[in-house]
Amino acid sequence: MSKVIAINAGSSSLKFQLFEMPSENVITKGLVERIGLNDAVFTISVNGEKVTEITDIPEHGVAVKILLSKLIDLGIIQSFDEITGIGHRVVHGGEKFNDSVLITDEVLGQLEELSELAPLHNPANIVGIKAFKEILPNVPAVAVFDTAFHQTMPEKSFLYSLPYEYYEDYGVRKYGFHGTSHKYVSERAAELLGRPVEQLRLISCHLGNGASIAAIEGGKSIDTSMGFTPLAGVAMGTRSGNIDPALIPFIMEKTGKTADEVLDVLNKRSGILGVSGFSSDLRDIESSAKEGNERAELALEVFASRIHKYIGSYAARMFGVDAIIFTAGIGENSDVIRARVLQGLEFMGVYWDPALNKVRGKEAFINYPHSPVKVMVIPTNEEVMIARDVVKIAL
Ligand code: ADP
Repeated sequence: MSKVIAINAGSSSLKFQLFEMPSENVITKGLVERIGLNDAVFTISVNGEKVTEITDIPEHGVAVKILLSKLIDLGIIQSFDEITGIGHRVVHGGEKFNDSVLITDEVLGQLEELSELAPLHNPANIVGIKAFKEILPNVPAVAVFDTAFHQTMPEKSFLYSLPYEYYEDYGVRKYGFHGTSHKYVSERAAELLGRPVEQLRLISCHLGNGASIAAIEGGKSIDTSMGFTPLAGVAMGTRSGNIDPALIPFIMEKTGKTADEVLDVLNKRSGILGVSGFSSDLRDIESSAKEGNERAELALEVFASRIHKYIGSYAARMFGVDAIIFTAGIGENSDVIRARVLQGLEFMGVYWDPALNKVRGKEAFINYPHSPVKVMVIPTNEEVMIARDVVKIAL
């Protein structure tokens, strides 16, 4: 028996889950938010109850110290020696990493080099890795990449139709993200379907604040909607998804913004927030649309229609599809979005049941039994995938 901690460090946050392995029982989980501020919030669940503390957490190292000492103070562990492995989510693994890897000094150097490709994400992940390394230097740590699962994409999927030397010289290509989630739900779908994943063509829709769609053939990702960065693909909470690239200089000229400022608008003020004009949170949008707010209704339509089109294109890409999977906050909970995404897909063998579609937050089939294409809701679990990889690689 061992205890493995899965870490997801963002620029101002750190999420954690402590697992007992191999049983995969979650011993505790929690979150540090607003790192860098005087009123940082530390939340941990103890026996199913949330304990929250507001305190001064200037940087990630302090967050890790507080987290570890809380585990002892709350009697969750008796000593640090009980933690046998650490798994870190790392957003970008470039072409270098097609699987999780034990973090050595050499790997850490490579991750730092990759920060060029993911300046918004990798630096925060690296800060998390270093903070744990300082406090628990002898506990093996594993990096689990969002991009790794998509490294099976063939060149025709990942290559942009740009001068080929941009790919060779600068690594300009589609990498794809949410790989750990797409992998988890595709494996779980195969189990629930009672068929080997090698025989299946799956379309996985990870719909959270960030959203991406993946075409998974024989257990391997062969295409996905996100691109060089997580900005591409479908519309998201605040991200635009695909737009005409010529819009960037046009908007710069019209608004006087710099390229970085326009990029910031595309990342933080677009998508559901941009179209609705008031919120990136789908729950707000759904309730306002119900009350007749037209811009909220439009945001729902824009969001769902992009996903609907990806499903059609990925079904064509795989010469058919055996199952469509919905996961993450919106995919798991929003019958409104699922209904709009699936609307009219009977022509390709998708017969879904509006009554079953009401399901929230648990594994379920929402297709009619006779439907050739199955439709499934599968809550994602990236953390358990991280813990499994720690056991596989380091223990
Ligand atoms: P993140 O990408 O930040 O991990 P999540 O997977 O938590 O995001 O998804 C967040 C999104 O899920 C938000 O838009 C939120 O409104 C939506 N969501 C969560 N619960 C529900 C619900 N019951 N109905 C509709 N949308 C929901």
